[in-house]
Amino acid sequence: MALEQGTIPVVDFGAWSKGSTEDKKRIGRELTDACRRVGFVYIVSHGVPSDILEEAFGWSKKLFDLPQEKKMMAPHPPGPNVHRGYSWPGLEKVSQDIIKDGDETKEAENRKISDFKESYEIGSEESKTQPNVWLPGDILLGFREFTTQFYWRCFEVAKDLLRALAIGVGLEDENFFLRFHSGINNQLRLLHYPSIEAEKLSNDVVARMPAHSDWGTITMLFQDDCGGLQVEHPRAPGHFVDATPMKNALVMNVGDLLMRWSNDFLKSTLHRVTLPPVRDNTQIDGKLMTKSRYSIPYFVSPDEKSVIECLSVCTDEEHPIKYEPVVQEDYRRMRARGQYVEAVGTPVPVS
Ligand code: CA
Repeated sequence: MALEQGTIPVVDFGAWSKGSTEDKKRIGRELTDACRRVGFVYIVSHGVPSDILEEAFGWSKKLFDLPQEKKMMAPHPPGPNVHRGYSWPGLEKVSQDIIKDGDETKEAENRKISDFKESYEIGSEESKTQPNVWLPGDILLGFREFTTQFYWRCFEVAKDLLRALAIGVGLEDENFFLRFHSGINNQLRLLHYPSIEAEKLSNDVVARMPAHSDWGTITMLFQDDCGGLQVEHPRAPGHFVDATPMKNALVMNVGDLLMRWSNDFLKSTLHRVTLPPVRDNTQIDGKLMTKSRYSIPYFVSPDEKSVIECLSVCTDEEHPIKYEPVVQEDYRRMRARGQYVEAVGTPVPVS
């Protein structure tokens, strides 16, 4: 099957904020339609100004440019339960042990490949179960202030997306999903895929990020111009199409919990990060090197005690309820167990 580009729809939120009921309905419909067909969608005019985005990427670069021993002063805590602070290359294993029913074999091969990236996780300062892990105050002055503000700015965008989705799936109350999302259970991640020998990637020695689905409500992704994000083709399982970076757009995707909430009406799609296009590669010492890539995902999750129950607007005789109600924190724990290897000893050096 030919895998055409432009498979991922674009939705313009420009008219949303001062929008008429008609505009909101239209945007809601467009967003929901994209989430049903593809599960991934570009959002333009989302409300985060380009200079703020530039600043966010600037902080990310400054953080990852720090010497390893400095970054290790804010280490990700051992174990799968708290997802905060700095993770060094090789620590996280994203390919899923527990994945949507029936997809296990597809993922099994990915588990052999070690991820090659470093990340820094930030939550809300209000979260008691997941306290933030910060660098000592004198390192990267201003980082904490900017990123905590950015966290809440992203949530403002998320609120509009959740409202549009509520309208789009046919709920009467546009704030329905917001009742489950105070914002304190979200997660902001700074991600850096360092430059490595292209040969290693193409030989599958390391993967940038193997195929996986996200498990929250929605994910919003800001990416640099490097490229590498690929999304499973909606009509060709196992084939992936490029989510080519669009300047200042964010890429939104549906997570497994929202898919479950909507009784599979909305689609949580497998995606991966792979070698960027060859034209972007550079050579060092005669070796083909990939370009390093920075991305900033923002994971939107319901509050911990939320009970996620299939929406009645998404069920009828033809579409009977597929899932039992689940409590967010139970679901998260179950998913986290398959995702994080125990933090052991020394970090794998970035070469
Ligand atoms: Ca993801």
